[in-house]
Amino acid sequence: MNLTIHRGTHEIGGTCVEVVHGSSRIILDLGMPLINPGGGEGEEFNFRLHKDTAGVDLVAQGILPDVAGLYEWDTSANRVDGVLISHAHLDHYGFTRFLHPEVACYLGEATKKLIDLTCLFTPAEVSISRPVYIASGTQFSCGEFSVTPYLMDHAGFDAYAFMIEAGGKRLLYSGDFREHGRKRKAFEYFLRAAPRPVDALLLEGTMMGRKAEEVPTEEDIEESMVETLRETDGPVLLFASSQNIDRMVSAFRAARRSRRMMVIDLYTAHVLKSIGEYARIPQPGPDFSEIRVFYPYRLCRMLDYTDRKHLLYEFTKYKITKKEIGELADKALMLVRPSMLGDLERISNLDRGALVYSMWNGYLKKADVQRLVDFSRSRGMEFLTLHTSGHATVETLQRVVDTFKPTKLVPIHTFHPHRYHQFGAPVVEVEDGQSFSV
Ligand SMILES: [Zn+2]
Ligand SMILES: [Zn+2]
Repeated sequence: MNLTIHRGTHEIGGTCVEVVHGSSRIILDLGMPLINPGGGEGEEFNFRLHKDTAGVDLVAQGILPDVAGLYEWDTSANRVDGVLISHAHLDHYGFTRFLHPEVACYLGEATKKLIDLTCLFTPAEVSISRPVYIASGTQFSCGEFSVTPYLMDHAGFDAYAFMIEAGGKRLLYSGDFREHGRKRKAFEYFLRAAPRPVDALLLEGTMMGRKAEEVPTEEDIEESMVETLRETDGPVLLFASSQNIDRMVSAFRAARRSRRMMVIDLYTAHVLKSIGEYARIPQPGPDFSEIRVFYPYRLCRMLDYTDRKHLLYEFTKYKITKKEIGELADKALMLVRPSMLGDLERISNLDRGALVYSMWNGYLKKADVQRLVDFSRSRGMEFLTLHTSGHATVETLQRVVDTFKPTKLVPIHTFHPHRYHQFGAPVVEVEDGQSFSV
């Protein structure tokens, strides 16, 4: 097997790996970068600045990875055999919009649902025209490769690691994962069931180089949330990602335990309903009378203007108004986003409430997030952070290395590849675009 990491050897986000064996080629993830190509850790990548640039030029500028036979404009007969998408985070699938329509895209069914919802509710555009759905532990063939996906514990729902076998060699790509979330058992199964030893381990290292501190579990987050909800006199606003299903479950359980109504917005209602087909999770409906749906003004106007009106009507039965939320006061836990600021300004009784920030603290630098925080302060609300990472701690990474005993340990999805030497396995440090054999 031959491997090329097109992006990800020295950064988090925009992951893309090409694996070659004989005449077969597969691609692991086709993500959009989080930072500017060639830029530093703090320089955020903004695709809007490039959206009018032709795909060929994006390749020439080094924004899109240079992979033959992958893109829609590529007419060569030498097409890649398939693209494997680990999970529904933009830094792993964001560039599939340029994918050639005849290239098969292997991904989880729930992952496809989440990607479709992102396209319906945000300006993101993706075109996966040939999806092939995968199942944890079930091997499939792609060209000359045998691939076995394993469900992982991650902040993104339906995330997979891939065991890839060809020519008597084994390559394990971890994708993004952790072991302190609600899918810990999936991770344990992966450690027990996946074959070993492996010839190469492509291991994510998001947490490498971050301060070593106690990492709370998702259950710890739920406990802290219960405490906050019980101690706060007014409404509690929660800023968390709607697609972080583990966090939505923590919030719902905390709301139920503290006898608060959980108010989610229309977009979140659609997410929970879609994912509800694959997991037992709370969603608006007769089984969950303590969930109500709020209709944010800007979102509804966008759906109305862009011919997506049908999305407006599904949850009208469970609708809650701004006035009703204000009246609930200390009986409400409301999920919010910066785009809902205009709505929040018209809700009463917030002054005795709190804003709980439940995302990676790097986003606090964003102007719209800062406006939300400033607003909460101007209303006299308490501001607090309750969050745990979607990524593995250094101890968990060590467990994976010890379990699979790789001949080559390859850093990916990290800013600190040189730190991988601490794991006690032979590290292969490469640059983006540099090929090496397994
Ligand atoms: Zn990622
Ligand atoms: Zn992720």
